Amino acid sequence: MTKAYGFDTLQIHAGARPDPATGARQTPIYQTTAYVFRDADHAAALFNLQEVGYIYSRLTNPTVAVLQERIATLEGGAGAVCCSSGHAAQIMALFPLMAPGRNIVASTRLYGGTLTQFSQTIKRFGWSAKLVDFDDLAAVEAAIDGDTRAVFCESIANPGGYITDLDAIAAISNRHGIPLIVDNTSATPWLCRPIEHGATLVVHSTTKYLTGNGTVTGGCVVDSGKFDWSASDKFPSLSAPEPAYHGLKFHETFGSLAFTFHGIAIGLRDLGMTMNPQGAHYTLMGIETLSLRMERHVANAKRIANWLEGDARVEKVTYAGLASSPYHGRMARICPKGAGALFTIALKGGYDACVKLVDSLEIFSHVANLGDTRSLVIHPASTTHRQLELDQQIKAGAGPNVVRLSIGIEDAEDLIADLDQALSKASA
Ligand SMILES: *Cc1c(COP(=O)(O)O)cnc(C)c1O
Repeated sequence: MTKAYGFDTLQIHAGARPDPATGARQTPIYQTTAYVFRDADHAAALFNLQEVGYIYSRLTNPTVAVLQERIATLEGGAGAVCCSSGHAAQIMALFPLMAPGRNIVASTRLYGGTLTQFSQTIKRFGWSAKLVDFDDLAAVEAAIDGDTRAVFCESIANPGGYITDLDAIAAISNRHGIPLIVDNTSATPWLCRPIEHGATLVVHSTTKYLTGNGTVTGGCVVDSGKFDWSASDKFPSLSAPEPAYHGLKFHETFGSLAFTFHGIAIGLRDLGMTMNPQGAHYTLMGIETLSLRMERHVANAKRIANWLEGDARVEKVTYAGLASSPYHGRMARICPKGAGALFTIALKGGYDACVKLVDSLEIFSHVANLGDTRSLVIHPASTTHRQLELDQQIKAGAGPNVVRLSIGIEDAEDLIADLDQALSKASA
């Protein structure tokens, strides 16, 4: 499939072709664990990675392969590996780069679960994360040391209101010969294509907008194919003989597909965080309408954020899509079609008003998720950020008076009416 086609065409066709066995037009769900080898030589060639094919579905599966090619194409990458969740994708992205004693430099403005994964869980692998304000470029640069193996941020940061200056961060990681990993979950490739701004790897929670309807968890790591893994001795898993694959040199052998092959042959083989074909099917169905949904998500979010900003019961709306946002100018450069559909509001009535609002909303569902066709709401201070100290909550943009909205694709008038009645009850 040529990349000259437009986004709307690629989101339906990239990676897919009529099924060679049956002519089935829709991508079949290849619900199988294993694949019959033609003969012993064929099996040996597959295990040697001399021939590309299917061995076992922990590694590769034809339905998942279509999704991998589709997401790689939409992101403008060379290849992609899908896995079982967004959090799995983050580990899969870091795994080939890291070793005990190595660190990453990551933005303080990240999805809450990612902050926990980076500040606590990866320590068990001997890895660490230095969390830095990514608006302070000098601090980002100063945090990079001889053991740093990646720089990590979100394009449009969850829970909203912040857009990372990807070009400036990429320039810094480039200068140090370190890959930039961008979580593009909140933006999707329809709003932002991080590789065009210098990202080496793009990670996704496909659970969110890519699937779009709240049915399955999944993740994906897209490789730009542009990083020179052999330029230094920092990435021996890719540049030197890999002991976990009988001394294969991935970069020398697979060139721009080195990271992708490593992700399958070692990452999925040994970590096993595999996406299942049924899950890939739901995500493929979702991606077919990605641009249509995102257009509506963004239009609704803009309209609702503007309405809320003008409402006396609301203290503040934090959304880069508003002209009043300090990140509005950055949006024009990084994600000109819009700042996504996720934002927070602060209520004048504080904690109690927020809880009342959440309980009074009728269309908005109170859930710990985002990026659904349905509008969603959560009060971080009483849920996801409950374990944090007050000052940590405030620093994370999740103070007691803050509610996060994930705007769906329902009628904007209905959503505004719902917010209006709930705000009245909350401020009564
Ligand atoms: C949800 C989310 C994740 C984690 O993804 P899961 O699929 O829930 O594991 C990571 N980053 C962002 C920005 C997210 O919204």
